[in-house]
Amino acid sequence: MKIAVLSRNPRLYSTRRLVEAGQLRGHEVVVIDTLRAYMNIASHKPQIHYRGKPLEGFDAVIPRIGASVTFYGCAVLRQFEMMGVFPLNESVAIARSRDKLRSLQLLSRRGVGLPVTGFAHSPDDIDDLIQMVNGAPLVIKVLEGTQGIGVVLCETAKAAESVIEAFMGLKQNIMVQEYIKEAGGADIRCFVVGDKVIAAMKRQAKPGEFRSNLHRGGSASLIKITPEERMTAIRAAKVMGLSVAGVDILRSNHGPLVMEVNSSPGLEGIETTTGKDVASLVIQYLEKNGGPHLTRTKGKG
Ligand code: ADP
Repeated sequence: MKIAVLSRNPRLYSTRRLVEAGQLRGHEVVVIDTLRAYMNIASHKPQIHYRGKPLEGFDAVIPRIGASVTFYGCAVLRQFEMMGVFPLNESVAIARSRDKLRSLQLLSRRGVGLPVTGFAHSPDDIDDLIQMVNGAPLVIKVLEGTQGIGVVLCETAKAAESVIEAFMGLKQNIMVQEYIKEAGGADIRCFVVGDKVIAAMKRQAKPGEFRSNLHRGGSASLIKITPEERMTAIRAAKVMGLSVAGVDILRSNHGPLVMEVNSSPGLEGIETTTGKDVASLVIQYLEKNGGPHLTRTKGKG
């Protein structure tokens, strides 16, 4: 196969590993800088140009689209789809997963377990918003935050009120969420490929911290997940329409709760922690499922 990897930087661990794994399995793999590609959308024959030439002959495309380039990245991916190139994850599914409110609404509609969550922009009754998620302690999150930044644990309703007011002043969309204390500062990252969890790791926050992000000093270890957790992760990826996803789960007293479904999950943490060749499993998924004009939505979304 001839495979395109849409990525801003060929030196990133995940990009490097996907190229390496693809080449090892006998494929031609080309990294395309997402923002450098340009497109003719008005022609009957949709094209993508790159470095002065049309991109031709690709069988599959692996999108590695960072949050900050979602809009343009999804447009480039959609163009590949219109050209009949098979995407590892479809543009509509990626766009869907990047909208946290839409994602949680979709997951809840399909009965996937979630922490009790409220969304707000400028709530006219903060007390009621706090009551809606069963009061303090609770977690407040800025919608656009990543790597745990903008995620605040409020022990009391008074603290929650102040934090909500502060975010309102900054005109931020926020999420107010039940605090899952029993998770003990840990979450589980399930790496889903197709209809399987092919690797899982536990991330544990450093002492005194509740956020388990590795960027916040958390540490990762191998974990055996329960059948219920496995099912929840697969279901969450399916509801989002993602073939490959990183599903983050909190272990609560009433079963697994999905926090987030990531459409470009990183490979470094999961490969290092589990010792699994995740990149190769991703390439094998493409080999089994890829093919021309097999995109379900054909860029229509
Ligand atoms: P980000 O997307 O910025 O990583 P998350 O929503 O994943 O933000 O939150 C960061 C971390 O905080 C999570 O990995 C988890 O350890 C912890 N956390 C988030 N929400 C909750 C919650 N409702 N209850 C308990 N811990 C939480």
